[in-house]
Amino acid sequence: MPEGDSIFRAARTLQRALAGRTVTRFESVFPRLTRINDDAPIRGRTVERVEARGKHLLIWLSGDLVLRTHMRMHGSWHIYRRGERWMRPHGDMRIVLETDEMHAVAFSVPVAEFETAATLARAPAIRDLGPDLLSDGFVAADAVERIARRGDLEIADALLDQSALAGIGNVYKSEVLFAGRVSPFRKAGELRREDIERLVTIAEKFLRANVAEASRGMATYSGMRRTTGRSDPGARLWVYGRGGKPCRRCGTPVSRAKQGPHARSTYWCERCQPR
Ligand SMILES: [Zn+2]
Repeated sequence: MPEGDSIFRAARTLQRALAGRTVTRFESVFPRLTRINDDAPIRGRTVERVEARGKHLLIWLSGDLVLRTHMRMHGSWHIYRRGERWMRPHGDMRIVLETDEMHAVAFSVPVAEFETAATLARAPAIRDLGPDLLSDGFVAADAVERIARRGDLEIADALLDQSALAGIGNVYKSEVLFAGRVSPFRKAGELRREDIERLVTIAEKFLRANVAEASRGMATYSGMRRTTGRSDPGARLWVYGRGGKPCRRCGTPVSRAKQGPHARSTYWCERCQPR
């Protein structure tokens, strides 16, 4: 699943390519979207802005219409110049939004809805989002409070709960817990307040570092290896994807297990993150 930082970067790219431009063509394979396009055409509307909210991507169009998409596991938005070849098969196309210069194409996006400002505010997926790590108005204390209230959840699952804290996906979950030296299996309610505060601070730092203009891909580990210019994920992360390999702090083999109701992979170091 894309993490908050990759949705944020996608929104920024779309914003630069589309904002202020007039839509010249709209196409979608979703009947829900084309029905609205038939009644109130998208063509001729102006793209007002594009923003990320949690892991939702919102394209605001003139005339009180918002295209809300969620990438889930495999969805993505691409930008192409007119006539440029798509990088994904046409069969994966779900939405095309064209302006005179740029085409924005959504591939394999499973969730796509047109909203008005009012329905968007009421949509549970948006309404119930917790504080967004990448929003300007992020309030850490609110996020800490919400995580602490998920007392029975193991902390790894509490960090994934978008209604507690919006933006963390499965990779950052393991990375944040390792950096904060907290076992993924401790209950949120057992942790001291300062431990949760530390995790939230680290999460914010990691996500913000990865949306900085120069950043590419995802990195939380900044040891020697990164200076070699290696870009494979194994060289840029502390524990995620490194099961069986030596911990970068203590050399203990990194552990891996399936965790939570969706059996998501968790990576951790038994020695650095004791239960
Ligand atoms: Zn270790």
